[in-house]
Amino acid sequence: MEIIEMVECECCGLKEECTQEYIRRVEGEFDGKWLCGLCSEAVRDEFKKGKKQFVVVGEAITAHMTFCGKYNKSNNPATRVADGMKQLLRRRRREFSH
Ligand SMILES: [Zn+2]
Repeated sequence: MEIIEMVECECCGLKEECTQEYIRRVEGEFDGKWLCGLCSEAVRDEFKKGKKQFVVVGEAITAHMTFCGKYNKSNNPATRVADGMKQLLRRRRREFSH
């Protein structure tokens, strides 16, 4: 029987429900850290390409975490509020045209 566990991505914080077997496999690959599908692909890619010559997979993970952190900063609440305003305006405009 498969055991489902809730895991959180070490990079972007995405929460996912996965089978224990899958979680262990990912953790085994990434230095005991669990990464979501997107982040693990990115780290695998970076590690394979060896752009910065990563010695251990942990370094590729750290590099990706820095990248993810930057991305999350650009996705901060202020930006989200601005996006919400844009959507609201768009909705208003649609209402006016009726
Ligand atoms: Zn992630």
